[in-house]
Amino acid sequence: MAIFDTFQKKADRHAVDNPGKGANSQLDKFALDIIENAHICTLLLNWNREVIYLNNAVIDLLGYEQSECLNHSFDNLIVEGQRDDAKSNHADIINGKQKRSVNDWLLIHRDGSHIPVMSTEYALFGGFAQPNVIAVQLIDLSRQKAAEEQLEISEQRSKFALESASQGVWDRNQLTGEVYHSDLWYTMRGFAPGDLEKTLDWRERLHPEDREHALRISAERKQGIFTHEHLEYRERNNHGEWIWISSSGQAIEWGPDNRPTRIVGTDTDVTLIKEAEIALAQLSERLQLALRTSQVGVWELNLKNGEERWDSVMKAMHGCPDVDDDVISKGFWESFVHPEDKAVATLKFEQTEEDLVYSERNFRIIRRDGTIRHIESVARNYKDAYGVRWLLGTDRDVTDEVIAAEELRIAKTLAEFRNTELEIARARMEYNALHDALTDLPNRRYLDETLEKMSRGKVNVTILHLDIDRFKQINDTLGHAAGDTILVHCANVLRENTKSTDFLARVGGDEFVVCINGEHDEKQLITLATRIIARMREPIKYEGHECRFGVSIGIAQRDGRNIDARSILVDADIALYRAKNNGRSCFRFFTEELQQEVVRTKQVADEVLVAIENDQFQPYYQLQFDAETLDIVGAEALVRWNHPSAGLLTPDKFLQVAEGLNVIATIDRLILQKSLADFDTWSAAGLGIPKVSVNVSSKRLRDEELIKHLEEIEFTPGTLSFELLESIFLDDEERLITWNVDSIKDMGIEVVVDDFGTGHASIVGLLKIAPHCLKIDRQLIAPITNSKRERLLAKSIIEIGKSLGIRVVAEGVETMEQVKILRELECDVLQGYLFCKPMASLDLQSFVEDQKWRAVEAKKV
Ligand code: C2E
Ligand code: CA
Ligand code: CA
Repeated sequence: MAIFDTFQKKADRHAVDNPGKGANSQLDKFALDIIENAHICTLLLNWNREVIYLNNAVIDLLGYEQSECLNHSFDNLIVEGQRDDAKSNHADIINGKQKRSVNDWLLIHRDGSHIPVMSTEYALFGGFAQPNVIAVQLIDLSRQKAAEEQLEISEQRSKFALESASQGVWDRNQLTGEVYHSDLWYTMRGFAPGDLEKTLDWRERLHPEDREHALRISAERKQGIFTHEHLEYRERNNHGEWIWISSSGQAIEWGPDNRPTRIVGTDTDVTLIKEAEIALAQLSERLQLALRTSQVGVWELNLKNGEERWDSVMKAMHGCPDVDDDVISKGFWESFVHPEDKAVATLKFEQTEEDLVYSERNFRIIRRDGTIRHIESVARNYKDAYGVRWLLGTDRDVTDEVIAAEELRIAKTLAEFRNTELEIARARMEYNALHDALTDLPNRRYLDETLEKMSRGKVNVTILHLDIDRFKQINDTLGHAAGDTILVHCANVLRENTKSTDFLARVGGDEFVVCINGEHDEKQLITLATRIIARMREPIKYEGHECRFGVSIGIAQRDGRNIDARSILVDADIALYRAKNNGRSCFRFFTEELQQEVVRTKQVADEVLVAIENDQFQPYYQLQFDAETLDIVGAEALVRWNHPSAGLLTPDKFLQVAEGLNVIATIDRLILQKSLADFDTWSAAGLGIPKVSVNVSSKRLRDEELIKHLEEIEFTPGTLSFELLESIFLDDEERLITWNVDSIKDMGIEVVVDDFGTGHASIVGLLKIAPHCLKIDRQLIAPITNSKRERLLAKSIIEIGKSLGIRVVAEGVETMEQVKILRELECDVLQGYLFCKPMASLDLQSFVEDQKWRAVEAKKV
């Protein structure tokens, strides 16, 4: 073979440098050149596997010099780990076991790097006993390998990208029905990678709500209609839970009918995102609802470009629900703001952009229909993800609240006003409760409270208790207006004569109290009391009348710690009582003796009450005689107290007390009853006493029930007479008294004016009463024997009686001399100790029967 020869020669020339052998044909030379310069690396090995030829491509590939390879074992060119394989491979070729073998070897470059090659090896047999050779042809794989590696890397990268994006890949061949799923596709569903069997029926795992939609999309994908790039649906995973899958698919191969034959896609588990989305949607829904129900309008203002957006509530709030666009024009909002509120309403965000984090404003807007609404606006400044500043705000129509608040404010003001009025009224009431309306002086209650306060701690207090004399008469005769004038006058007199630190009070009808706090000696008090009494004596004019009155004063003093405030008033009252009894228009100090007297009086008073109950009062009788004949003309009943321990007590011991106790009328009634009973006894005994007389107190005469009581008792008219004090008629012109006296007379009771001559009853008054009899007071009878003047007085009284045609009685007749004079003066009746002392009814009988009094006259005459 020529080729072989050429090879051989070439080899010879290089290797064994045998000059006798060389190329001998032109064709060989061409072939050799072709091989020499071919891209395919070619080596020839002898049976010993030594390199006997290599072309330029090998030198280019491995970087060796010819000489470095020729006659060296092929093993030197191959990596150590493949040498045995290469050796046995060559052996198989030499043995004829293999004709041709293709191997991947790693060859060693001269610089030590490894070069992958695809090696095709076969045997060339010398036809003419030429040694056999192994031809080795190499294709450099290093580029291809790199490309392969590159591919693998990019595949891995995309796989990694898909997996790190949690995307499971699916690949479906529509024609064969063959499916491929990536590992993640399985694991995201909780299946083991490659678990085809379990995952086959996708439909089964679909959520009922998503089934229809998912199946439709899937079907559309198969038909090549990709209306939805993404499909989101719920699928049950291997654990039985619903997971959200976001699936996108794409057709990558089509059939002749243009239908996709292969669709590849990715599935992503978006459960977490979906849940977050749902939660967000719910939140948003809730927020919307909250905004709707609270009627809060939301607005947004882009601070960069001034664009403003309103929601529907905002529009409705401003009375323009028909504005379609959400973006409102510049200046739109401003056009609603009430001119007066412009300043407060406008946000100065241009300057304070950075600072304005949160703002709250209240302003009014005027809607298109002219109605004014109150808006509460809250705004917040924030920067969005693009760095644009926004104002996000909510506006709320608070008109109703404002109105309500205003109403409340008015109501409150009103209530406060009313409160003040009430307070004033209360203060007025309180003042009224503590003051006397007429004189504007503090009243009794105020005095009590003041004294109560004053009495604590160390005290030195003086009380002047004043009582206007004759006030009642003035009131009765001139009327209440006159009385009021006097009271006001008195209050003024007291004000003028006391210090501002003194406490004045009107404590009763005509009673006043001056309370002096602080030390006062008796002299000062006497001066004060005297001055007041003198001032009060000065007459005052009332409707042309000159009113005269006076004042009596009781004075009490207390010096010490924590005194009894009430008791000092009681003391002053006692002193006043004394002053009144002393003849009025004077003052009295409260003294120890007074105190004792009071105690005594108190004791008596208690006993008087017991005495009434125990029937200890009884009448004694003093007989009255005809002045000339000394025949009995009557008997006067005089009350006696049969005191269990003190014996028989005369009226001077208890009558005053009884009067104070208001029981004197009761006593009078008792005495009347007993007298009538006794009178009946005398009559029955035939004693010849023609009548009985009883003393009637002024209290009894003022008793409205008097006549009624008298009508209930039985007596023979003309046998009973009532002795009434002259002073009664002097002091009183009361209708009741006149009426009572008239009624008494009408009932056939004789009326006697007692103690005549001591009072100042006028003749006119006497005429009005028209008594049956006048009784000269014994104080006038006693001196008639010695005093001509008294005698004349007695005489004129008797003459008055004569001229009026009424009888005259002289009482307290003790001597015959008196009898003689009275007879001369033609006095009608005589009564006195000369004849008899008052005696009990029982004693009276024997006295009358014995006619003892007549002995008196017999003695003298
Ligand atoms: P009077 O009505 O002037 O009664 C006459 C008083 O003079 C009686 O005093 C009598 O005992 C006293 N007397 C009589 N003759 C003489 C005399 O010759 N010399 C002196 N020195 N006194 C004489 P008595 O009984 O003590 O009564 C005093 C006053 O008490 C009575 O004065 C009368 O005003 C009143 N009095 C007596 N009994 C009653 C009564 O039952 N009811 C009322 N309201 N008053 C009575
Ligand atoms: Ca009498
Ligand atoms: Ca008398």
